[in-house]
Amino acid sequence: MKPLQPGATLGIAGGGQLGRMTAIAARRMGYRTIIFTDERPGCPAAQVADGEISSSWYDQAAREKFASQCDVVTVEFENVPAAFLRGLNVPVFPPPAAVEICQNREREKTFLRQHSIPHAEFRVVTDPETLAAAQKELGGAGVLKTADFGYDGKGQKRLHGGENAAEVWAAFNAPRAVLEQWVDFDLEISVVCARGQDGTFAHFPVCENIHTNHILDISIAPARISAELAAEAAALAKRVAEALNYVGTLAVELFVTRDGRVIVNELAPRPHNSGHHTLDACAVSQFEQHVLCVCGWPPAAATQHAPSAMLNLLGDLWPAEDAPRDWSAVLQHPRARFHLYGKKGAKRGRKMGHITLTADTAEEALAEAKALKETLAAGSR
Ligand code: AMP
Repeated sequence: MKPLQPGATLGIAGGGQLGRMTAIAARRMGYRTIIFTDERPGCPAAQVADGEISSSWYDQAAREKFASQCDVVTVEFENVPAAFLRGLNVPVFPPPAAVEICQNREREKTFLRQHSIPHAEFRVVTDPETLAAAQKELGGAGVLKTADFGYDGKGQKRLHGGENAAEVWAAFNAPRAVLEQWVDFDLEISVVCARGQDGTFAHFPVCENIHTNHILDISIAPARISAELAAEAAALAKRVAEALNYVGTLAVELFVTRDGRVIVNELAPRPHNSGHHTLDACAVSQFEQHVLCVCGWPPAAATQHAPSAMLNLLGDLWPAEDAPRDWSAVLQHPRARFHLYGKKGAKRGRKMGHITLTADTAEEALAEAKALKETLAAGSR
């Protein structure tokens, strides 16, 4: 595809905060944006876009209307039905085949296995018998994960070994799943990278991700790992991007195992929560990279100019749903950058915004993020 010129229209499937930040990046670069969402009108992305279509993914007329207004289409979350993406008669990046692989754990894990990319050993589970066989073959502890629609630890059950397969399967209530061997890890990291239509690849410095209750809490960059491990993680991300024939921003989540290896955990075919610091701490953001690549340009140099910590602002930090809250601790901080996503209804675990803190080292940025989180939590009690 020839690079799109300013004034062209980027369609974004999905209306959440990732679409919102992508639309803001597109607008900064002179593009127009149209959001397609199956949620109610007024979603976070539509608030900053030039147009919005709010309809079922399966409404053909709405899909045609959307495509007729777009020069190219991308996604902001992986669970957009592949049939929707394939039915658009405009270019779609990342390729629908790549999105389809990443939206289902069975396909994703099988893809990693087929390409000999290190990952946790797994078996596909479809009934109590295949679960029992998988437990026996993998031995000991593991995690049972639904094949479809799992995220932030949802649709997962930790197994410690010796459980009754029939009972576990009956309670799990999913048509297909994967049983993954338990990984004894030191750290969770991610590589946020981008690949252009010409194959040019660029990656940001590796991030280190700290989860609380299965949700990303703080992400620091660069990660506190050796240069060798960082290079290995980046090389794996590049192999993944190439094998997927990927175009756009891609996040590859990995474990650093206790015995010092890096293995891939999950792929996100879109900008990622662990890359939000790139808005404030890097020469180009993950959202700008996505827009550049999707619109036919090669990715920019993904350099980071200051170590950073990104703190997610979850609904838990609000005193009550839709109650105003005091942000002065953030606004008065000399090295904090503040982002809210325009969401109404601050619910527990809901991602409402984030803060990026920059410092002289990632350790210092992390300490600042923890202190700020404590101050904000105190203000919500
Ligand atoms: P996921 O949705 O696959 O990213 O899993 C959510 C979280 O569960 C991860 O961030 C890990 O902290 C943990 N987890 C997932 N899979 C495994 C595994 N095989 N071994 C150990 N911990 C895991």
